Amino acid sequence: MYRRYVLLGDCGCVIESHAMEDHLNRSERHIAMYTCPKCGTIIVNTVRYINRIKIKYKEIVEVNKRVHSLDSKLIHMRVEVQKKLQVFCKYKDESKLFFV
Ligand SMILES: [Zn+2]
Repeated sequence: MYRRYVLLGDCGCVIESHAMEDHLNRSERHIAMYTCPKCGTIIVNTVRYINRIKIKYKEIVEVNKRVHSLDSKLIHMRVEVQKKLQVFCKYKDESKLFFV
């Protein structure tokens, strides 16, 4: 039985094809672009994996949208809480003056 190898167009590393498939399959669990198992270069221009790369990229874009949406909601909530705290503190300070 002979082995096949893949030349990664992004970094020029040569990886045994089954080892590369295993590496990509393990990477499915992570929200990150695929990388070369030897040098860590992000893989975006290797034709053999272009369909997987496109799917992965879409997943990452979707996660980024969700995170930024949540960020903007949290910023809005933070501003609202600060406004309410200012009103509360002002009221509290006025109450102290009244009761002194
Ligand atoms: Zn490499």
